[in-house]
Amino acid sequence: MRGHVLIVTADAEMSRSLFALLTNPRPDPFSIVSVGCLSDAIDSLRAAIPDIVVADLHLPDSDGMATFDRLFAAAPRIPIVVVCGEGEEDLADRAVQNGAQGFFSRRDFESLVTVQMLRNVIKRKAVEAAMFVEKARAEIMLNSISDAVIGTDLAANVEYMNAAAESITGWLREEAQGHPIDEVMRILDGGTRGSVRNPVDLVLQDDKPMGLVAGTILVRRDGLEVTIEDSASPIHGHNDELCGAVLVFHDVTVARAMSMKMAHLAQHDYLTDLPNRSLLNDRLLQAIESAKRHAGEVAVFFLDLDRFKEVNDSIGHAGGDLVLQLVAKRLQGCVGRTDTVSRHGGDEFVVLLSEIEGPAEAGILAERMLQELRRPLVVKDRTFQITASIGISVYPDDGEKPDVLLHCADAAMYQAKVNHRNTYRFYSREIMARDIERKRISDALELALDRDEFLVLYQPKVNLFDCTMVGVEALLRWNRPGLGMQLPGLFIPVAEETGLILPIGHWVLREACAQGKRWAVEGLKVATVAVNISALEFRQKNFVADIRTALEESAFDPEALQLEITESILMNDVEESSRILYEIKEMGIRVAVDDFGIGYSSLSYLNKFPIDIIKIDQSFVRCLTPSSGDGIIVTAIIAMANSLKIAVIAEGIETKFQLDFLRRRGCLEGQGFLLSVPLLPEHISKLVVSGFAQPHS
Ligand code: C2E
Ligand code: MG
Ligand code: MG
Repeated sequence: MRGHVLIVTADAEMSRSLFALLTNPRPDPFSIVSVGCLSDAIDSLRAAIPDIVVADLHLPDSDGMATFDRLFAAAPRIPIVVVCGEGEEDLADRAVQNGAQGFFSRRDFESLVTVQMLRNVIKRKAVEAAMFVEKARAEIMLNSISDAVIGTDLAANVEYMNAAAESITGWLREEAQGHPIDEVMRILDGGTRGSVRNPVDLVLQDDKPMGLVAGTILVRRDGLEVTIEDSASPIHGHNDELCGAVLVFHDVTVARAMSMKMAHLAQHDYLTDLPNRSLLNDRLLQAIESAKRHAGEVAVFFLDLDRFKEVNDSIGHAGGDLVLQLVAKRLQGCVGRTDTVSRHGGDEFVVLLSEIEGPAEAGILAERMLQELRRPLVVKDRTFQITASIGISVYPDDGEKPDVLLHCADAAMYQAKVNHRNTYRFYSREIMARDIERKRISDALELALDRDEFLVLYQPKVNLFDCTMVGVEALLRWNRPGLGMQLPGLFIPVAEETGLILPIGHWVLREACAQGKRWAVEGLKVATVAVNISALEFRQKNFVADIRTALEESAFDPEALQLEITESILMNDVEESSRILYEIKEMGIRVAVDDFGIGYSSLSYLNKFPIDIIKIDQSFVRCLTPSSGDGIIVTAIIAMANSLKIAVIAEGIETKFQLDFLRRRGCLEGQGFLLSVPLLPEHISKLVVSGFAQPHS
């Protein structure tokens, strides 16, 4: 290391001696600049910075301590070594007190020890400078990170804090220094709110790094609480001895609030804030586990609102959402704190009673929920009366697993719906049998199309006055292996549930069009062929395109095709229904409203839809008996249809009385066992040829 020395002395002898001494050492002689007065020294310090200054304090332009002080002021970071004369030790001492790095006397000019001393001073100063830079860098880094850092000594007293630590704890570094860490950082357990031992204590005790329990709360100096996450590590000294601890932590209040919100959202329904399926499943599992231990019982309620679509249709989806929120509140009001009301999407709710004293208790709750829901409910200035159908399953009788219990409750709800609505049903053997049967039907239905087990019968529609056939209705039959001919009532609901109605319905449509075409080719005047359309088909995206394809494939005349659609299907989404109907009409196809009169009291939609025919539901025709009065509904429907210029046909005519009644009221067309049962296509052909006999009964 080659050192640069500035020699300051007016004494030529001293200058020479020092020069000789300092240029002598090999292999690294010092490079030397020598000046003779203070002002030259100061100029030289400004021009180039030496590694060390060797100064004689007696100069022509300055003397004694003043010389040192001015030199030191000119170059405070450069080590200055003072040369003192005989008996000047006091002066040298004062210089050292004021910042000199050392002194030597003229006696030492010859000594190599002096050279070594100068070298040591230079080296020490270099190390100090490096440490200064290192420390400044560490300080800047520590202050610029967002994590709080606190250093402590062996007694767990604070030695250091960075800016983040100051702002999180509310203590300034100067104030905290020397205070126990427990005082500066008061921490509590987020759950119990009991005080927590500071990890620094444990680190100092075990000499191992460690972390804090998640959710730990730091009470700031001003009393505010923040959630922190932290870790602490031991600090080891030169000889690897433990000499303190450093604690790094950060404020996770916002992050934690966010993660708690996310966790809540993941387990709750956005609309009602009720637990969702996944949380219900957890709770159900817990309830089952606990019931297992106490030989207790758990009840699961599957609740579906009745005709909720109508609510949505009348006040829109936003209004429907409000109703669901009110329903959620009412249901919650019916159960205790340990029970769970959850929403399964749509208008389905599942309620869990985690401990019941026998099924009777479940029945009482179901009754209470129905009663609560029935209370009039006002939304958007409209009053609704909501009813629901509830199915109940009980652990352990009906099943031991959440999915089984839910399935059973669902099946029981389905039964409640089929039976009466606005009622509840327990899962029972009977429902189980029906459930199993439904499963069997759906399995068998899957194969039925491929195995060619379906056929279509055709029931004539007859002009009630001249007894000519005005058309036929295609009615599906399933020739189920081993069970014989099955009526649609047995399997169509299952096909609708499973979606199988789509391929099946498509098959019926193609079959009916092909048969219609065959009759036409044979020159038989069957007039129209009507096909029943279920909700799922009607709402399906390709519905209109599929009809077009079936017509093109069969080359059947669209004007001879009728589609029978029920009121409830049309009312489901009035705008959309109307759009589809107009598309169908454009092809020349005619539309009949099936089972008219049982769905909606509102008849205003008849004007909205392009409807050609109304089919009076069988139930009204059945009521026409000699003892039943005046058949006022049938009379009204016929009159209304006539005034709207819509054709009307009566379904289910079984007696001569009914036939005569309808004729008297001006009903032009009819259909029923009295006239003809559904027939095979070849029988229809014969009937067209032979003509209808006047029915007798
Ligand atoms: P719907 O469209 O109202 O058909 C009339 C039903 O009444 C037929 O029952 C028919 O056999 C029966 N019926 C006719 N005259 C009389 C009578 O005088 N007395 C009595 N008691 N019943 C009579 P079916 O064939 O069992 O069909 C029942 C329902 O199944 C149909 O009611 C229709 O909604 C549906 N359906 C039938 N075929 C299909 C189909 O291909 N696709 C779809 N989606 N549904 C179909
Ligand atoms: Mg029909
Ligand atoms: Mg009908």
